[in-house]
Amino acid sequence: MISQDVFKKLWDNGLLEEKTTDQPYCESHNKFLADRFVEGTCPTCGYEDARGDQCDKCGNLLDDPLDLINPRCKVDGATPVRRQTKHTFLRLEELQPRIEEFTKLSEEKGGWSKNGRIITESWLKKGLKNRGITRDLSWGVPVPLPGYENKVLYVWFEACIGYPSITANYTTKWSQWWHNPDQVKLYQFLGKDNVPFHSVIFPGCQMGSGDNWTMLHHLSATEYLNYENGKFSKSRGVGVFGNNAKDTGVPPDVWRYYLMKNRPETGDTQFEWRAFIDSNNNELLAKLGNFVNRVIKLVNSPKAYNGAIPDSFSASSLPISITTSLSEITDLLNQYLAEMEAVHLRSGILLAMKIAEAGNGLIQSHRLDNALILNDPALAASVTGTVLNLIYLCSAIFEPYLPATCASIREQLAVPFLQIPSEEDIANGWKPIYLQADHKIGKPSYLFSRIDDSKADYWRDMYGGNQEERRKKEEQAAEIAAKKAASKAKAKEKKAARKEGVALKKVVDAKIVETEKGGMINGEKAAPREEGEVRVEEGEAMKEVLDGVSQVTLPPS
Ligand SMILES: [Zn+2]
Ligand SMILES: [Zn+2]
Repeated sequence: MISQDVFKKLWDNGLLEEKTTDQPYCESHNKFLADRFVEGTCPTCGYEDARGDQCDKCGNLLDDPLDLINPRCKVDGATPVRRQTKHTFLRLEELQPRIEEFTKLSEEKGGWSKNGRIITESWLKKGLKNRGITRDLSWGVPVPLPGYENKVLYVWFEACIGYPSITANYTTKWSQWWHNPDQVKLYQFLGKDNVPFHSVIFPGCQMGSGDNWTMLHHLSATEYLNYENGKFSKSRGVGVFGNNAKDTGVPPDVWRYYLMKNRPETGDTQFEWRAFIDSNNNELLAKLGNFVNRVIKLVNSPKAYNGAIPDSFSASSLPISITTSLSEITDLLNQYLAEMEAVHLRSGILLAMKIAEAGNGLIQSHRLDNALILNDPALAASVTGTVLNLIYLCSAIFEPYLPATCASIREQLAVPFLQIPSEEDIANGWKPIYLQADHKIGKPSYLFSRIDDSKADYWRDMYGGNQEERRKKEEQAAEIAAKKAASKAKAKEKKAARKEGVALKKVVDAKIVETEKGGMINGEKAAPREEGEVRVEEGEAMKEVLDGVSQVTLPPS
């Protein structure tokens, strides 16, 4: 286990220390109690339901939960006693200079997000304190030291070590990622409340282990996403969570688009149902979806090109009206590459959408349609070939955000996966050179579908309620589901009973034959049986049937 290995190496390198502390212990349910699991009377104001860490009435902070008068265990009301417990502490004070040196270098080289830098620097400025990394719990990773049999590694110590552990579960070659700092760059994505675990404690443990670890390169910490002018709250049932998102039936790419477009990279952002629906209808569908669909439909039309890129299309002889647009697209693409390199994912997706819009612009400014194909076939071929290549480019630049959509685009174009071009690739400008004359494309299909505007109120009502309302709704839904399940089960039971009846009849027939040889029908009262007799399973149903049979079967003579 990797977390135990890191622990042992820190221990061997003198970076862990043991300390014995007094902690409240409940002899009734045999557990050490966290401070807030001790309750009693506040020694300052006399409030009877004060917690071991703090009195909610007068705000008094307690140094020792057993300072409460008449302390009691929150679980069972027993009186806690003082008991000594031994724990291991990570010597962060000792590690501080090395951590400081590392973060200075990494935040500069990796271009950390601003909040990541500020939070890390303030932690280091305050001065790191040694921290306990074991706990008296039964669930977790066992501590690899004698005398720690009822203790586990504390979650904040082993949580980040979980990243290499997950890789090791996936492949035995995990070291090629995690012990390969020259060839691997580690990018980490997290909410700002988790910054110190990734920027201070994890690197500290890695360095302290003495192994050659791949360490944090870029840290991307986000601010908070709020919900309809309030806060997401799982406990109060406010907001939309992973399972709810699935229940709405809206495809994952639509969620990904909206959430990336609203990624709280520089400040808090809002989740709003109205805007969520608008981003599907007015952006994904109206811009990207229509652009792709319009062109692929047109090319497939027998009146136009019968599904092939026109044979007169050549990327090297395009009219100036197109090359002007191409230099605009090149600019956007360069901006896109710079933003993606800096992990500004929000700007990245906005720029990708601008590139799709430029494609729409090309079609509109040239009025590409059957009339143009008829009246100016050379120009029509140039526009068509260019926008088909641009659609292919879209399948690359949207790929990190909309993987299912991009797979569909590739299928419609009948093309393989396309890498995002590099800055060198487009040093002389982006050119429509992937797909050439006569390439046969696939059939059109819709990338997105419209979401009805009325859904905004419906979903807001569904996921905005207080806990009580949501619980009621969930209960109602569960009741309906239970009724359905019950009637299904009944039908199944009937069917099974019919089947069982047939099986039983066979067994019973066999028994009747047997009884004729001198046995008794009821197993429990069975007289001496003959050897080799087949024993009958004695389920309740079976007994009933057998009893019934015995009433109509003549006793043996
Ligand atoms: Zn207790
Ligand atoms: Zn008080």
